[in-house]
Amino acid sequence: MEIAFVDLKKQYQSLKSEIDSAIQSVIDHTAFIGGNNHYIQIFEESFASYIGSRYCISCANGTDSIEIILKAAGIGINDEVIVPANSWISTSEAVSNIGAKPIFVDCLQGVYTMDPKDLTKKITSLTKAIIPVHLYGLPAEMDEIMNIANKYKLFVLEDCAQAHGAVYKGRKTGSIGHAASFSFYPGKNLGAYGDAGAIITDSEELAKVCKMIANHGQVKKHNHLIEGRNSRLDGIQAAVLNVKLPFLDQWNNARKRNAEAYRSLLNGIVITPYVPINMEHVFHLFVIQVGDRENKINELKKKGIETAVHYPTPLPFLPAYKHYNAKPEDFPVAYGNMSRILSLPMFAELKTEEIEYITEVFNVRVTH
Ligand SMILES: *Cc1c(COP(=O)(O)O)cnc(C)c1O
Repeated sequence: MEIAFVDLKKQYQSLKSEIDSAIQSVIDHTAFIGGNNHYIQIFEESFASYIGSRYCISCANGTDSIEIILKAAGIGINDEVIVPANSWISTSEAVSNIGAKPIFVDCLQGVYTMDPKDLTKKITSLTKAIIPVHLYGLPAEMDEIMNIANKYKLFVLEDCAQAHGAVYKGRKTGSIGHAASFSFYPGKNLGAYGDAGAIITDSEELAKVCKMIANHGQVKKHNHLIEGRNSRLDGIQAAVLNVKLPFLDQWNNARKRNAEAYRSLLNGIVITPYVPINMEHVFHLFVIQVGDRENKINELKKKGIETAVHYPTPLPFLPAYKHYNAKPEDFPVAYGNMSRILSLPMFAELKTEEIEYITEVFNVRVTH
């Protein structure tokens, strides 16, 4: 048996005719890019309504969506923005790219998201914003984070790149903070067929500025109120996303079922993901903790099973941030988890038999 970490082909095969005709239709209408692009407008409206927010502004990728929001919120030079130590580098990179300084906080044991206690400790007079990441598909502790933000008057940007459709106390992630960034990189829970991203917000003013920044600062053609940048979603990506969005909940439910299957087989053998009550995890990744990780990775590989590690090095310990001189005791949880975390294959089309085959490596005996 060969089991890929993420198998994008299976999903395509299940929707082949719809996807092919959507792409063909963009080409037939030469609707590649553009202001009044029908495919893009439909996507923005339907995604805003899916999340339960007023505005969706599409852009070129998830990293751009973070940068554009921060810029639109007036954050820049000399400002500090608090980010989790445990994330993909986009979260901190976007902060540096707009001239501000990322300040890292440790994660919570068990759930892996930003630790609100450590967050409070990192606030200074220069802090302007917080970027909670709903890591692996599990919402961050948003009530506590919003309370802290309100107390110190900080802007909250939810990084939802791994959490399309996740729910926190009855609200979709992306509708809780002041704005949210989404990535539709092909492997995400909702993925395009190339790079794509979106900004979500309820603020009319912020939406207007984000839209302007993403399109060279124009309000209409050749009327540039500010210098912006080029960060556009293209018609083909929008058309693919329009076909796929109606299936997102169904795919997330399949991921949840797969996570349950893993959990029931691995319970008591390795540390499996913990889901607090009042939260719905959408399992972008299924991350366990094992003591002898490198051996397990090799055994899995021998059986034809691909795995990954998210992430092998917490952000503050990457060479890119060596000037921070981070010490293990500054981020004890993220640092301690670093050598034990392991991401097992996870996607909607993964079969129960495949999950059973994967868990054999952990000495799980499946009895039928
Ligand atoms: C994927 C990802 C991003 C960025 O997305 P791109 O579309 O690849 O730029 C940002 N944050 C997190 C946590 C991600 O996983």
